[in-house]
Amino acid sequence: MGRNRDRLGVGWVGGRAYLAAAGRKTLLVERYTTLGGSSHVFARRGRWEFDCGVHYVSHCGPDGIVTAMMRGIGLEDRITWLPMDQTGFDRIIAPGFELATPVGWDAYRESLFDAFPGEQRAVARFHDVMRRIGEAHDRNDMVTTAGMARWAARAGRGATLMAVPYGATLAALGLSPRAAYALSVQSGAVACSPTVLPTAAMAAFFQDYVGTGSYYPKGGGQMLAAGFAAVISAHGGEIRTGREVSEITLDAGQVSGIRLADGEALAASTVVSDADIVKTYTDLIGLSRLPRLFRRRVAGWKMSQPLINGFFGVDIDLSERSNGNYFAIPEWGPADSYRSMASFGRNTLNGKGFDSGPEWARDMARRQPMFVQSSSRRDPSNHRAAPPGHATIEVQTVTPADPRLWGFDGYDVASGEYSDDTAYREVKKIVMDGMLDRMEQAFPGSSSKVVLSELGTPATQTRFVNNTAGAPFGLQLRLSQTGPMRPRDTTPIPGLFTVGTSTAWGPGTVGSMLSGVNAAASIVGRDLVGLIRRGDRLADASTLPTWNEDFDPFSTTRALHRR
Ligand SMILES: Cc1cc2nc3c(=O)[nH]c(=O)nc-3n(C[C@H](O)[C@H](O)[C@H](O)COP(=O)(O)OP(=O)(O)OC[C@H]3O[C@@H](n4cnc5c(N)ncnc54)[C@H](O)[C@@H]3O)c2cc1C
Repeated sequence: MGRNRDRLGVGWVGGRAYLAAAGRKTLLVERYTTLGGSSHVFARRGRWEFDCGVHYVSHCGPDGIVTAMMRGIGLEDRITWLPMDQTGFDRIIAPGFELATPVGWDAYRESLFDAFPGEQRAVARFHDVMRRIGEAHDRNDMVTTAGMARWAARAGRGATLMAVPYGATLAALGLSPRAAYALSVQSGAVACSPTVLPTAAMAAFFQDYVGTGSYYPKGGGQMLAAGFAAVISAHGGEIRTGREVSEITLDAGQVSGIRLADGEALAASTVVSDADIVKTYTDLIGLSRLPRLFRRRVAGWKMSQPLINGFFGVDIDLSERSNGNYFAIPEWGPADSYRSMASFGRNTLNGKGFDSGPEWARDMARRQPMFVQSSSRRDPSNHRAAPPGHATIEVQTVTPADPRLWGFDGYDVASGEYSDDTAYREVKKIVMDGMLDRMEQAFPGSSSKVVLSELGTPATQTRFVNNTAGAPFGLQLRLSQTGPMRPRDTTPIPGLFTVGTSTAWGPGTVGSMLSGVNAAASIVGRDLVGLIRRGDRLADASTLPTWNEDFDPFSTTRALHRR
């Protein structure tokens, strides 16, 4: 065994920053060369930088929990949150239709009335239910059954629909299939189908962004990892990138440390795993070492769908365009009836009933709504994102994970050899053509001016971030995997803590960060969420290195790898 440490961390850096700031001796081990996981940034040709997983973040206003988390470790002056378009941070566009989702529940009501003039009563019911449930939501109070009961009590008469799938709620409220289809596409932002996503989770999404605002970190998504890394290093923590953890070692049922893929063993009394939750238990611990009932629970977990990402460098100036995201619906066919919507979900979104990958890909490229947005537009001051007069545009959508449809079945994904397979390349080409189509719908004139393009598939996600079935949002947000039914920070194995997108604090950047603070709180035995909500600080900002105006978070975090 190597040197003894108090705490070892696998992956995400946020919680480790809190542990280090709380005075714990901390080592962060990351398998990739760059910190950040799904939220990292990558560079191309020395002139482009693409954001993988930070497109909009909520709770970043003066009273927001994200602001409190940054302040708690001395990062509030370093991470500046740029507000997106207040009148429409999301715009749902379809032939002959546009619905802007603005910040503010009253403004959202007006926007809904404008978009659906023929069904005002159903729309008013929809707004009322989502607002009641949404405003009753507390991001940090979903971990226990009692917390969920408090949420339901605050939601009043909205509570009856909280556990109902969102799609069924839209039907129950009397919305037309067309309105329901348009309103259901935002469930893609949590990589979940409206037929399984509980209404409460969708209302929480609306509260996050409509209720608290939509923001993007100045300097790009890598600012977060760079900030957390600075806190860890300044407080005596150690960071090792490009090192894979192959085992979490136990001694008499308790955590004793980790073993790295190169065989090195490191002793520690506490291990915090942000690796994919299924892989944490199946690969790093081993199912046979879990208590019997918990083993059954792990075997029954269901992952969310992959959210694939097309990255486009485009010779177009978007500075006069709205600073918001687009959900682009190419055609209304699936909205003919609730029945046709259900079969669209089953077949196109889930890939059922297709004989070949290209057949599925052609169908999804023609019919599937996609999420289109521009990181360089969100932060025009970030000159590393795109050359002057150019833009980065990212197009995302949920897909089946099935390797057979994607053409990488039979490959060891870690080797990357699948990327030359002709079937895989054919499917990618079809999917990217569909993305170009949706991009043109959102940003007219853009699709013919692409100078650089790449597609991250479910295989890419598994290869680079190690997610089960290429699912960056972790466990699916179905009723049986929501709130207290999701894994917590504490686990049945003494000394093992789990954090990240699959935990009770919910998916996405905010949930992952909150899980990290809560895990740190459990480890040090202090109410850290209460502490930061009161405005207190754990870290001494004066110990952090100076960041000048031109601070480059990508090079700074990459440099950790070369140290
Ligand atoms: C296309 C896309 C768009 C998104 N858009 C948004 C958005 O707009 N807003 C939002 O809030 N969220 C968004 N997300 C989600 C957000 O990026 C994720 O929820 C978040 O990054 C999850 O963080 P995490 O810490 O749980 O895990 P991950 O990001 O999965 O990080 C896990 C880390 O652990 C490392 N690791 C895994 N196994 C090992 C091992 N054995 N040894 C060492 N290290 C290991 C991985 O390399 C990785 O760095 C998006 C994600 C994607 C993919």
